[in-house]
Amino acid sequence: MRIAQMAAHLSNGSASNGTSDTRTSLADLPKSWTFTSLLPPDSRFPTPAASHKTPREDIEPRQVKSALFTWVRPEEAKEPELLSVSPAAIKDLGIKVGEEKTEEFKQTVAGNRLLGWDVEKEEGGYPWAQCYGGWQFGSWAGQLGDGRAISLFETTNSSTKTRYELQLKGAGITPYSRFADGKAVLRSSIREYIVSEALNALRIPTTRALSLTLLPYSKVRREILEPGAIVARFAQSWLRIGTFDILRARGDRDLIRQLSTYIAENVFDGWESLPARNSNEDDNLGGPVGTGVGKNIIEGPAGQEENRFTRLYREIVRRNAKTVAAWQAYAFTNGVLNTDNTSVFGLSIDFGPFAFLDNFDPNYTPNHDDHMLRYSYRNQPTIIWWNLVRLGESLGELIGSGENIDSEEFVEKGVRQEDADELVSRAEALITRAGDEYKAVFLEEYKRLMTARLGLKTHKESDFETLFSELLDTMESLELDFNQFFRKLSNLKVGDLETEEQRKEVAGVFFHHEGVTGIGNTEESARKRIAEWLEKWSTRVYEDWGPNGDDETRQVEMMKVNPKFIPKSWILDELIKRVEKGGEREILDRVMHMALHPFEESWGWDKKEEERFCGDVPKFDRAMQCSCSS
Ligand code: AMP
Ligand code: MG
Repeated sequence: MRIAQMAAHLSNGSASNGTSDTRTSLADLPKSWTFTSLLPPDSRFPTPAASHKTPREDIEPRQVKSALFTWVRPEEAKEPELLSVSPAAIKDLGIKVGEEKTEEFKQTVAGNRLLGWDVEKEEGGYPWAQCYGGWQFGSWAGQLGDGRAISLFETTNSSTKTRYELQLKGAGITPYSRFADGKAVLRSSIREYIVSEALNALRIPTTRALSLTLLPYSKVRREILEPGAIVARFAQSWLRIGTFDILRARGDRDLIRQLSTYIAENVFDGWESLPARNSNEDDNLGGPVGTGVGKNIIEGPAGQEENRFTRLYREIVRRNAKTVAAWQAYAFTNGVLNTDNTSVFGLSIDFGPFAFLDNFDPNYTPNHDDHMLRYSYRNQPTIIWWNLVRLGESLGELIGSGENIDSEEFVEKGVRQEDADELVSRAEALITRAGDEYKAVFLEEYKRLMTARLGLKTHKESDFETLFSELLDTMESLELDFNQFFRKLSNLKVGDLETEEQRKEVAGVFFHHEGVTGIGNTEESARKRIAEWLEKWSTRVYEDWGPNGDDETRQVEMMKVNPKFIPKSWILDELIKRVEKGGEREILDRVMHMALHPFEESWGWDKKEEERFCGDVPKFDRAMQCSCSS
């Protein structure tokens, strides 16, 4: 039986009535507190009531052992101003249109109203902050946790059946705040609000954002005093690799097993939904996020039986492989890929100094403090695997125990001394094999996305070298804008690329307004290089689409995967200035609207402004970097 069903009694909302319109008010959303009902709380506050009785000022940062969370409520927000709401988020959560205009909505997303908690009776569902740790820039950082994020409740969309956890970022101090203030500044909140929804619209797995609230009475000290804000964000899970890291560092083997079981049964769709066992005879690497890598058989020595925890590990590995492939295909950089910022669900998560690349530069890191380029664009696939190996180590005992996983002795006492070597070598072999699977899934997904972005129907082995690599080298050398290149390519007709003369003429559309840049390039050499690539590309287009290239259909297909609008750093910077300093409000909804519909040609706003936001990045605003202070 699914444990989610057992926790259903905690739901205090009306369930779906079976009609097509199941969208409800916030109060009526079906809510649950599965996470807190199944995992152990901080023993300082063993019940929500114990936490609720404690004055907010008495919450102070400390080490929280043998627990996965602390019950803690958001700080009171004085006269919050709801700045913007994502219509896509409202829809996906199953909230009815118009609800965002109510006082209840405003107070809930500011943390002033607790839905589900009965103040009189002191019972019901209660907010919480998670405990986790993390490896930051390659070093162990100890306990981290939700230092300024507080989750309110989980809610399941009655139509899609997707369950999300709603969380407020910037809601005040928790036991996990360490030396910091529990607050978020408006600047970084605007960035997270927009990018979460933009990534989702680009079909890149990500945590989401429902709303952005300004706290007019909150002044937050960073380098200077800045206005505070709250982003109400939501995700299928906020668990991170860092959640396992802290348990491993403390030797909490029971909790590692309990958390893994919770994830398989309550975050994913049950053990049976995980990738099928990868036995030595079997080439089935299927599963819910299968990408058809069946032919990439990963053979392992005999005796490497995969138990269910290995399959869980593989699911997490595969999800992250797909997500990082999408980042590479759309040139998104997270900027701080520490293990606490690597999602168990495979989501893009925790947006600090992130950026989409402007010009294609594989060494670009958006993080001003990342001197070693650890979190550069080029390094992302490697770093995510590094993080996944940390997870493999946390799960190592479970993975390595093979068929012995449920024996009473192993569950209670762990591995026998004499079996330890075997366990370790089995775990190592299985993690290595998962590494091969990571590569295979990554490549498969990357190829799928790039093939689509280039407007091709099929992938030929030679495309990797002839089309992908050569294109990336060309873009790097000529300092071309990555995402704009694909959109401009989508506009081309292959009939206009027949002769070298024509191709060289067309090549000019890819240049910046100031002309050709990049060391050693002249206009002539640049046109020649792009023309050569266009010739190879058009040959492949003819192969896939027939003798006339089927321009119309192909262009429609390409526009569906090649965005016109990308919320680049310079746009977010301008947005921040206009909202924070200029007092503008409407611009937030405008930019959000474009981010939610990135593949459109126009958005029914001011045509000139739209084109400016989709156009060439101002020369001195390219490849900006951010500091980590947010
Ligand atoms: P990040 O670099 O944003 O992933 O944050 C790393 C850790 O620091 C997480 O545990 C955050 O919750 C915590 N943290 C970051 N900023 C603050 C803040 N202003 N107040 C409390 N905790 C914070
Ligand atoms: Mg983080």
